[in-house]
Amino acid sequence: LLEVKNVSKRFQEGSIDTQVLKDVDLQVFKGEQLAIVGTSGSGKSTLLHIMGTLDRPTSGSVIMLGEDLYSLSARRQSEVRNQDLGFIYQFHHLLPEFTALENVSMPALIQGRNRKEVEAEATALLERVGLGHRLTHTPAEMSGGERQRTAIARALINKPKLVLADEPTGNLDASSGEAVYELIQELANQLGTAFVVVTHDTKLAARMDRQVQMKDGYLQPQERASVEGNVS
Ligand code: ATP
Ligand code: MG
Repeated sequence: LLEVKNVSKRFQEGSIDTQVLKDVDLQVFKGEQLAIVGTSGSGKSTLLHIMGTLDRPTSGSVIMLGEDLYSLSARRQSEVRNQDLGFIYQFHHLLPEFTALENVSMPALIQGRNRKEVEAEATALLERVGLGHRLTHTPAEMSGGERQRTAIARALINKPKLVLADEPTGNLDASSGEAVYELIQELANQLGTAFVVVTHDTKLAARMDRQVQMKDGYLQPQERASVEGNVS
């Protein structure tokens, strides 16, 4: 689905030049749930941004369904970003003035889709994430877990092929965090959407199909099978 090829990223600030990603290779397969773990500052968010067309690599390429994302026209790149990718952040980034239904509908309305249809889909998605009773609530009227589930529904409204999530449970207590992971797994299985999730929580990461570890800008594969000593 998406392939990160030999990606490096340096940030230059004045005379200070930091290399944050070093020759990173990573493949994300259709429908898979992949966790990226690693210590703070190891480059996880930077990698996720580069996968999501939000930050350009210094060298290397990112190929999604045959297209080199950083060789595309700005117009095509934003099309891919809006149609094929979904984003979930540590802080929900919901619009405070709008209800759950409006927040989830927004990315589809921006695409110019029909309001009636979008609202029906947004309602169905909110029901699916267990928030059928919170359609008209604003973020302030919801719990942290409910806000994050709303953000998940919003990420899915345009039926992306890949959802990129940066510490989606970083702001939640353990049990809401687990519920969010269960939901992500359920949705990935039902909708066939691939999820790449950055997390500090190794327990939650272990629930995903596969995990890789970032260390000082290098990516270290860590297949669950090999961790468990199972070669099959
Ligand atoms: P955390 O777990 O704390 O979120 P992370 O693994 O997501 O960490 P990144 O945010 O990718 O880490 O940052 C990796 C390194 O790159 C850090 O040392 C950071 O200071 C540096 N960095 C990130 N963005 C920039 C930027 N825009 N300019 C300069 N340096 C940056
Ligand atoms: Mg980060």
